[in-house]
Amino acid sequence: MSWQITYKIKRYHPDQGSRVDTFQVEIEPERTVLDGIELIWAKQDRTLVFRHACHHASCGSCGLVVNGVEVLPCIKLIQDATTDGGTLEVEPLRNFPVVADLVVDMAPFFERMQLIGMPIVGPTGPLPGQEPDEYTAFENCIECGLCLSACPVVATDSKYLGPAALAAAERVIEVSEGRLSDEVLAAVDNEHGLWRCHAAFECSEVCPSNVDPAGRIMALRRRMTFERLRRLVGAKG
Ligand code: SF4
Repeated sequence: MSWQITYKIKRYHPDQGSRVDTFQVEIEPERTVLDGIELIWAKQDRTLVFRHACHHASCGSCGLVVNGVEVLPCIKLIQDATTDGGTLEVEPLRNFPVVADLVVDMAPFFERMQLIGMPIVGPTGPLPGQEPDEYTAFENCIECGLCLSACPVVATDSKYLGPAALAAAERVIEVSEGRLSDEVLAAVDNEHGLWRCHAAFECSEVCPSNVDPAGRIMALRRRMTFERLRRLVGAKG
């Protein structure tokens, strides 16, 4: 049985500006929001620009804002996003420059990751002394940018390092058994670094890959507080 869904899609063209286009789509509720976008592209508007690749939450390339919430539309089912006869308002990710329609320039994400050394790829599995269920591998990050889009601090401070990069920094420290490199310290311990986080936890809410960036930021704060105390005591001694 199919549902009738109204897609309201935000469009953008550098020469024509922004507008919202409305499409009616007949689709089974068990299919995904991305399936509906692809149906629109295939049957109604071949000029619609959007990005996708793997269709199973592995590549992180299709992230969008749907009805006000950051999602990977490749795994967001129609029945979980709206009801029969309902509407899906589809927009590009926030806090990124829009290139065209639903495609954003991901450079702000990778520039932040570059600051802490791009530690995305690394060995997986628990560290010595960790129970498997304590362990959240930062390598789970699929670089989707949903956390950066959902972060209310990034919206007001474009220099804020942001959830994924701060979580990666904490992971760098974790895998180096607590040692803080000067590069990572300089990147995170400043006015646009980990102290800027307002603990809204929106990043962890939207993360599709169990990285828990907000939890990582809180852990990084504990590490940094301890490190400051250690250095203070060392300086006095
Ligand atoms: S931390 Fe989560 S939400 Fe942020 S980029 Fe990585 S996978 Fe995406």
